[in-house]
Amino acid sequence: MSVVYPKVFFGDRLVNKSEAVLGVTSSAVLYGLSIYTVFYLSWSAKGYRAFRLADHWQRLSDSARIVGFNSFEKHWNYPKFEQAVKKLLAENQPKSDIFIRASVHLNAELAGPRTKDLPLTLSLFAYEAQPILPLEGTRLKTSVWRRVSDQSIPARAKINGAYVNSALAKQEALSEGYDDCILLDEEGHVSELSAANIFIVRAGKLITPGVESDNLEGINRRTIIELAQEAGVEAIERSIDLTELYIADEAFACGTSAFVSPICEIDRRLISQKAGPITKRLQARHRQCLSGELHPEWNNLFV
Ligand code: PMP
Repeated sequence: MSVVYPKVFFGDRLVNKSEAVLGVTSSAVLYGLSIYTVFYLSWSAKGYRAFRLADHWQRLSDSARIVGFNSFEKHWNYPKFEQAVKKLLAENQPKSDIFIRASVHLNAELAGPRTKDLPLTLSLFAYEAQPILPLEGTRLKTSVWRRVSDQSIPARAKINGAYVNSALAKQEALSEGYDDCILLDEEGHVSELSAANIFIVRAGKLITPGVESDNLEGINRRTIIELAQEAGVEAIERSIDLTELYIADEAFACGTSAFVSPICEIDRRLISQKAGPITKRLQARHRQCLSGELHPEWNNLFV
């Protein structure tokens, strides 16, 4: 991870990073029972703009509901969450664009995994916003691992334990000299990357796997669909075969930490040497949204 800022929100207050720790006996550590989201904030002289913060809050709450962390809504709500973000920014005063990772940990000592009526600890930390994929062109490998299905670990919740699946696939790709992986769903359709959604362009139309392909309901995925529609590009959500990727005119990945990353190669097959025209257009519009030039209503300003 790039530079992590020294003050961390942990429980109900800010502490030094070294004090924000979960014990080895905590269920969060033992069973991967934490949920999270990561959101982007751009920094300028005017302050920090958090991109689609309310949507991130909603997904975090939804993840809590799906996984059965019923204590979460009793103790947390959106205004309180915003206040915690504000305190984190005020204390650290980062002088760069940042990501904030917000997690909810099931912080109890239990013999055996359970989720209901148990103590939860919220943590927030900020780190420098470095993209996780090369923005000039990403090389991908289809993984031998399949995306864990919604029937096994809910795909639309961001559950820490589920990221073992991403780690297996990403490490396999890295070890073979690629930047990231493509995970197929159990039926062999394209699902997503290790931590980003995928889009292709065919005959001028934008296509992305539907959420029934067990991908995360990405906030940037939705943003891209909305931006495409506004730009007059038809956006279709449907299942995609692997071989369709190989013959795509353009392909790109998107996500908070992936931004919009053009995909140049998949399984050693060339997709396009550089970003294609639709990718470029959407990449530019997405960037404008992050800086508040476009859709300022998607940004929360913290001064
Ligand atoms: N899929 C997975 C598995 C992810 O971890 C992420 C990153 N949060 C995404 C897609 C992209 O989601 P978002 O646009 O909400 O960041």
